[in-house]
Amino acid sequence: MARIVALAAALIGALLWAVLSVTPPSARAASAPPDAFSARRALADVVAISRAPHPIGSAESARVRRYLLGRLRALGAEVSEQALPLPAESLARLTRWTGHRQAGLVGHDLIGVIRGRDRDKPALLLMAHHDTVPGSPGAADDAMGIAVALEVARAIRAQGQPHRDLILLFTDSEELGLDGSRAFFAQNPLAERTGMIMNLEARGGGGRANMFETGAANGAQMRLYAQAVDRPATNSLAVLVYDLMPNSTDYTVAKRRGIPGFNLATLDRAYAYHSPSAAPRTVDPASLQDMGDQALALASAMAFAAELPARTTSAAFADLLGRMTIIYPAAAGWAILLAAAGLIGAALWRTRPAVRSIAQGVVVIVALLLHGALLLTSINALSGSGGANYYDRLAALPRLEWIAALSMVALLMLFGRLRRPDMRTLAIAPAMALMWIGLLTGGPVVVLVAMALLAMLAASFLPKSPLPAGERESGALLLLAAAAIVQAVEPTAAPMLEWPLLLAAVAMAARAFLPVIAALAIGTVCSAAGVGHLLAQAHFIFLAIGAELPGVMIILLFAALPLLLPLWPDRVPRWVPGVALMAAVALALWVRLDPIAPSTPAYSLKN
Ligand SMILES: [Zn+2]
Repeated sequence: MARIVALAAALIGALLWAVLSVTPPSARAASAPPDAFSARRALADVVAISRAPHPIGSAESARVRRYLLGRLRALGAEVSEQALPLPAESLARLTRWTGHRQAGLVGHDLIGVIRGRDRDKPALLLMAHHDTVPGSPGAADDAMGIAVALEVARAIRAQGQPHRDLILLFTDSEELGLDGSRAFFAQNPLAERTGMIMNLEARGGGGRANMFETGAANGAQMRLYAQAVDRPATNSLAVLVYDLMPNSTDYTVAKRRGIPGFNLATLDRAYAYHSPSAAPRTVDPASLQDMGDQALALASAMAFAAELPARTTSAAFADLLGRMTIIYPAAAGWAILLAAAGLIGAALWRTRPAVRSIAQGVVVIVALLLHGALLLTSINALSGSGGANYYDRLAALPRLEWIAALSMVALLMLFGRLRRPDMRTLAIAPAMALMWIGLLTGGPVVVLVAMALLAMLAASFLPKSPLPAGERESGALLLLAAAAIVQAVEPTAAPMLEWPLLLAAVAMAARAFLPVIAALAIGTVCSAAGVGHLLAQAHFIFLAIGAELPGVMIILLFAALPLLLPLWPDRVPRWVPGVALMAAVALALWVRLDPIAPSTPAYSLKN
């Protein structure tokens, strides 16, 4: 009974932790002090810019540019324009999107320079794009970024004359091929004077503004982020993963030229991305405030500093509860591993579980996780992932996230069953069935077949008798091994595994050495914090790649297992995972069969 109470407390605590982490700060009123960022003030610009779609070459684009030139002059900036003839590929793309032949279009970058006291110091550049895709008013993407840059520049001026120049660059033709950014960094003399960039983007109008990309060697600049930003939303794993992905923003061009930078973007309310319905009301003022608070804190710290941050070895970091940034040299992850290994070792020395039972526990966990990845991939195929419209999938993200959550719950419930005599719940048949569901509904063939084979292989090693005591420690040992490998290969990715591992090791040592109730209390607190932190990251990762690669979520479940299993009930009625799975399947069919979302951009439907 005590364990059920502890589990309930841990899960409620974890959910609260996650909600706190992913909730942006509340929007500040237009009457906020002049040196602060006010979302309400910035919203006025969003409304003025995103009255109608303003793709490159349109009359509305000319109106928006006139408006922005006026706004830059009102800020006291030296204003200039850079004309950019569109390259053939961009014209071809626009021709495809609009259905009309496009030729001879010229884009216009808008540039405002706010003079600093020392004009020889490398300048700080704030960047956002003023164009939209055809048919979208683009309130989030990227009127929001422009409005943030304008309000940040205004607040900086209210704080005094900056030490260095502040450049505002509003690019054109970002949507067609980053053309404005390419032209500026290839030709404009101001590019040579730029020492640091802040890029402001959106793939949706809600949620936290995540700081998801930096230049190489980010140690010093991230320490500055950790000091300056009160409500951080960042982690070094996201920065690493984004580097490996093919996605690009205006900052990509500057990054290739070796200019350091911070890239911030919102991901939630993804239905508003490139959408005809992306009117100002789709921008959450709280998200605007979040992006503005972070951008102003960083801009202020750099605009008034004697030196910009130097390049030093990339650090390991992540925000905690969205309230503080934990940052340390990536190599220090070895100390976390050592501490965890020491605690786990001491606990094992004390409890002396049979090696055989630990090995059996390892098999159960590996089999479970492989089936989980297969389940998530198959049910995603069932929901229509194969060949579906990208924007229709983005609009379905909230339902897709529920599908993944319900699948994981079902999987965890199965664990309770696997520890009892019916070990054969996972065998050839379920993996085979999942594989065929995925294959027949258009899922990725190679991935599904490989996952199914691995899952069946793991299931064939499942023990035939109930597990003796000790298998709860298997998850921690597996996680320790995985974290050590990640620490050796990509140390900035390791915090996602190492932090929950350390908490699990503390709870495990408490179980071995302390009275039951004390150990349970410590375990509950560790689970709430560790699982909550993982849930917050899971939400962010799901928004970023969940529509295509939900199987990745299994890595987060793997990190959470050693925190959850010690509290998990031994007996779970068979119908509980069944109901969770059926709900997930019903949602998947709903996503597959419902008509295409009205938020989907028309140009994406033609081809
Ligand atoms: Zn954009």
